[in-house]
Order: sequence, then C-alpha cells, then structure tokens
Amino acid sequence: MKLRFAPSPTGLLHVGNLRAALANWLHARRHGGSFILRLDDTDLERSKPEYAAAIEEDLRWLGMPWDELVAQSTRLDRYAAAAERLKASGRLYPCFETEEELSYKRERRRREGKPPLYDREALKMTPEQIERALANGKQPYWRFKLSMRSVAWRDLVLGERSVKLSTISDPVLVRADGSPLYTFTSVVDDIEMGITHVIRGEDHVTNTGIQLDIFEALGGNPKTLTFGHLPLLTDQDGGPLSKRLGSISLRHLRKDGIEPAALVGYLAALGTSADPVPGMPADLAPGWDISRVSHATARFDTRQMLALNRRVLHEAHFETVRDRLPDGADEAWWVAIRGNLDLMREARPWFDIVRGTIVPPVLEGEGDFLRAALDALPPEPWGADTWPAWTNALKAATGRKGKALFLPLRLALTGEDHGPDLVTLLPLIGREKAALRLRIAAGA
Ligand code: GLU
Repeated sequence: MKLRFAPSPTGLLHVGNLRAALANWLHARRHGGSFILRLDDTDLERSKPEYAAAIEEDLRWLGMPWDELVAQSTRLDRYAAAAERLKASGRLYPCFETEEELSYKRERRRREGKPPLYDREALKMTPEQIERALANGKQPYWRFKLSMRSVAWRDLVLGERSVKLSTISDPVLVRADGSPLYTFTSVVDDIEMGITHVIRGEDHVTNTGIQLDIFEALGGNPKTLTFGHLPLLTDQDGGPLSKRLGSISLRHLRKDGIEPAALVGYLAALGTSADPVPGMPADLAPGWDISRVSHATARFDTRQMLALNRRVLHEAHFETVRDRLPDGADEAWWVAIRGNLDLMREARPWFDIVRGTIVPPVLEGEGDFLRAALDALPPEPWGADTWPAWTNALKAATGRKGKALFLPLRLALTGEDHGPDLVTLLPLIGREKAALRLRIAAGA
C-alpha cells in the first residue's frame, strides 16, 4: 500500500488540506503502507519554497512524518516523456485557439442551448494546417482526447461512483510554454510511484474520472488504484468552510495555541459517528477505518475543537509540555493551573500570579475585611488544609460567606475573579506574597 499527500506549495495548509493529509497518513499507517509527501509544484510562478518549507513544518508539528518526499519540479523530464507517448498514440493533440476564441465559442453553444463543451475543432486540423500555425510562430497547448465512456469506481467513502466523460471538455494537460498541469503530472506520478490509494476531497471527483482515463491511456491498470473522496467541510452554520475557517491556516491555529492532538483528534473523527478523542496520528492509526466517514458534508465546529483542546491541556503531563512553559515552570504549578486553560498561551499569566509578581487592584470598601484576612493568615508551612482553615476562621470572625467571603480574597491574591482552585493555589503562592497582596488590595 502506498499513499500520497499532494499539496501545492502555493499557500499555507488549512484544515481542509489537513483532513486529506491525515486520512492518507492514517490509512497508510493502519495498513502498514507508506506515505509520500508529494509537492505539486509545477506551477513555477505560484509555487514558493517558503510554502513548501511551511508544509513540511506543519506536518512535523502534527506528527505526520513521511517516508519519501518528492517535488514534481524535479520530474519534468518524466512528464515530457509521458506527453510524447500520448502524442504518439493520438490522445494528446495540439490546440491553437486563444482564450477569447474559446469563450466566444462557449457563449455561442450556450445560446444554442448546448452545454459549453470544447468542440474539438483542433482535432480536425490537417497536418498542413498545424504546420502552417507552427510556421506562423504559434505555440500549441495540448489537450487530452477523453474517451466517450463512463468511468466507474468503487469509492472508499462515497460507494459506487461514475463520471460521464462525454459531458466534460477535453482537458489541457500541457501549456503552450511546455509546462504540464496537475491533472497530468499527478497521473504520471501515481503510475510511476506505484500509488495504490488516492484519498482527497470530493471536489476532485470529476478529476478522478478524467485521471482514470489518462491512467489507462498511459498503459496503467486502473484496478491497481483505489479512490476515496472526503465530503467537503462546512462551517458550524452549514455554510462553505472556504469563506471563513477554510482560509484559516494551520499556522494560524498553531499560533492561537491549538494543540496538535486536539486538531488531529477532532479532524479524524469529523464526519464519522465517533466522538472525537484527542490524539496524535500515531495514536489514532490503529483505530482508523475510512469506511466510517459519512457521505454527507461534515461540519467543522470550532467550539468542539476548542473543547477538545481544553481536554488535551487538562490531561497534559508536565514533561510533555515543559519546553513550551515559561522559564522556571515546575510540575506542581502546572498541575495546579492546567485545568483552567483553554489555550496554552493563557498559562503565562498564571505563572506570574503563582511564581512571579503581580499587583492586585485596590478593592474599594473591602479594606477592613482584607486586613482581618491578613491578620488571620496562618503561619507556614502551608498545605491543602490552609485555605479551608483560613477561610473557615474568617467566616466565623466576619459572618461572611459564599461570594462575599471568597471573591475579595481571590481578587486580592490573584488579581482575577476566577481561576484555579485556591486550595492548591494558595500554598504555591506562599505566605509572603499572599500577605503583600492582601495589604495592597486593602489599600494600605
Ligand atoms: N494538489 C492537489 C490538491 O491539493 C492534489 C489533489 C490530489 O490529491 O490529487 O488539491
């Protein structure tokens, strides 16, 4: 089994790309196959090395190593050779029509009530006419002559599918400047690399019909290739993802503090009936079954992903996150505050509160209460019974209870009106800082 993820390095990866990458990766690992990262970089103008580097970095961050890395730009001779074979068999033919001529023809067909298909005029050119066009300095581009059949396959996700090639225009495979297009390069590579499974978005279904036809024309056996098309993602309101989240890059999510295990766990369960569980690809591969992905579009719900992110953080062991914590962070502090985080970047303020310095606000009208609290502060050593003992004593002395008792103490000690349990936090803050903060909040 050999699978590939074939992004175009013309931009940053977004969640839609990741879903395809992940499905390929999980399928390969689940069945002991290999996973190739293949950069679709034949569009030399739009492809950028920095995007290729970003794709590699994102996949590493997400725990999806590849067995082989191939850039299509290094294989141009292979595409040229394959194009020659198709020319020799009459399946690739030169065209000279300009974009204006083509759009005029499309418009005319539309007016006549016909579908706007390419009319194959170029195929009717005699060798002399072609000679003349070339002699006049015209550079041809090349179309593939589709067979008129219906191409059918059993899709891993969508079930029985077919594409009627007679309803599609012959695709351009080679541009006038000689550069090959994705529709073509992808087939040449899938054959030559022995790809067995192609998993990609549902927007590629028509391409699959076309590419299977090219595959056969190049002498490939379509039975060696299995396809799976993942239904498109929508946003949480059912709208197209591309408008909003679709354009959110993985880079962006990472900067926002989304954990890879949350993103991966969420995307792996998306569109299946399984509840998402956090996990890195290697953890999820044994349980992966592509046939569980539904035919229906799947909703990408940021709230659910954030809920998973919280879960990841709340369960994260100190050692696994240590290098992303503020300098000097210790395990007791991490265990005390992790349950309060939605995103990792919220850890920093809690480090300052517990291990560093903060200046709490002066709490108007609470001076007497806070001074009483300061006087009642027990001597160290402090432990898990310090907070209950202290607040019970205060309750008895002042008659305060509930919010009136706890909120001013929390505000004075942390500067925040909510946060981790003070039972664990107070001993970590320690007597010296606690006393100072109570004094400041009391206004003296
Ligand atoms: N570069 C194509 C894309 O990102 C690849 C599709 C495929 O997997 O064949 O959509």
